[in-house]
Amino acid sequence: MHPQMTCVSCGGSPVKAFEATDDYLRRDGVVFTYSRCPVCGTYALVNRPENLGDYYADDAYYDGTGDASQDHLRRGLLSTFAPWAGGGRMLDIGPGNGALLREARNHGFTDQSAVERDARSCELMRGDGVSVVETADPVAGLDGVEPADAVVMAHVIEHVEEPMELLTAAASKVKPGGVLVVATPNPESLSFKVCRSRWRHVDAPRHLFLLPHAVVADRARRAGLENVRTTTTDPSGLECNRGAWWPWALNVMPTKRSGHNLDRVVRRSAGILERRGLRGSTYTAVFRRPPA
Ligand SMILES: [Zn+2]
Repeated sequence: MHPQMTCVSCGGSPVKAFEATDDYLRRDGVVFTYSRCPVCGTYALVNRPENLGDYYADDAYYDGTGDASQDHLRRGLLSTFAPWAGGGRMLDIGPGNGALLREARNHGFTDQSAVERDARSCELMRGDGVSVVETADPVAGLDGVEPADAVVMAHVIEHVEEPMELLTAAASKVKPGGVLVVATPNPESLSFKVCRSRWRHVDAPRHLFLLPHAVVADRARRAGLENVRTTTTDPSGLECNRGAWWPWALNVMPTKRSGHNLDRVVRRSAGILERRGLRGSTYTAVFRRPPA
């Protein structure tokens, strides 16, 4: 047990928010408690299991050469920041098998590096010419990495034990004129407000933190970066919206069939609201270091 006595984002005093179980992979019924910081709105898993690795699938960090059906999501993510960075060197933190890096070559990012924990993924990327640091500690792993024009953390920050330290370390690797890209679940989303513990993107206990956009933006600003773009409606964000509601819908309805029907109706009616402001279930934020 590692109770979070103080908020990792601001030092505030968190209060209990909700309980959730792993209903997707391990399904062992263990109850996980999440807290919320009343000052900054960060959610944190309170009772982090000692065997957290057991809650990941064996191939959680590796899916071979990448699923081609996800190509449009990778192109969508690249289009959120490629125009700002203009190509050059890209550093992907927690890239899995490196599918985003491979797609990034088509956007001018031909000099590539990665910090990744999975040995098979690292091997695959080395074969692709990516300069790889293989480590389970991304903060330490970033130490000797060269600064890049684009530093990307896509659905990584919510999984790590020290998200603020990782943000600061990642920001320090952004060249003047370059960008830091952070994609992560949005605790201020419409779907989370409704679904709470049954929100798909709580994903207990794998998601250790749910970080409000303002928290991430403030940390990036203190590292010298400016927030040039934030969206919840990039293709990946829309995909996350589609998957956000179903655990909640199945839980409130008496049968699986009626649950799936409710999920479909809610997704259709909420879709319009989710596209306004930053109400989508995942945000992608782009932070730029001013040119020298
Ligand atoms: Zn806080």
